[in-house]
Amino acid sequence: MTSHRKALPTIRIDRCTGCGWCVAVCAPHVLSLQVLGPEAWGPKRSVLHDAAACTGCALCAVRCPFDAIRMERVDAAAIGRQ
Ligand code: SF4
Ligand code: SF4
Repeated sequence: MTSHRKALPTIRIDRCTGCGWCVAVCAPHVLSLQVLGPEAWGPKRSVLHDAAACTGCALCAVRCPFDAIRMERVDAAAIGRQ
């Protein structure tokens, strides 16, 4: 059986400064800066809001100046794209 896997960015929020460089280089616009937690204010962090549309190009990980993004292999079927 053939497995369909691709790499997705995982963002370490303890390293992310919210600088936005990863958002700027993401061609399909699947990264965004969002306030995490229940409050509507506070520091923003990068979030992968549409994993299915991520191409796995890894440009975001390369561009991040703070080494906050790692590409990790996932089962593509689990995120709705085969
Ligand atoms: S480039 Fe890195 S530090 Fe900047 S918002 Fe993206 S993940 Fe966070
Ligand atoms: S791997 Fe590519 S498509 Fe996916 S979030 Fe990063 S820059 Fe965007």
